[in-house]
Amino acid sequence: MFLSPAAAAFVLSDAPDGARFLAHELTHVRQYRRSGAAVFLGSYVGEYLGRRLAGARHAQAYRDLSFEREAEEARLALGKTSDVDDRSTGSG
Ligand SMILES: [Zn+2]
Repeated sequence: MFLSPAAAAFVLSDAPDGARFLAHELTHVRQYRRSGAAVFLGSYVGEYLGRRLAGARHAQAYRDLSFEREAEEARLALGKTSDVDDRSTGSG
């Protein structure tokens, strides 16, 4: 997993969402390890493109990805968030 300096600073800070952010990203690491890099990336991009081709806009296609839903479940399992961060345009 790669964290940008800004993301690493966020995780290491006392920000309440830092641990939840990490839970989300670590779920992607598990997904990656489950099937290997090529299969994971192919599945991720393939599912995204399939949703776009079916008419979904970027934010919706991203949010509905099975990989993102699984990661969000892990994030939310750590507790209720302030719900101020809209990750719909994120890339991770
Ligand atoms: Zn994600």
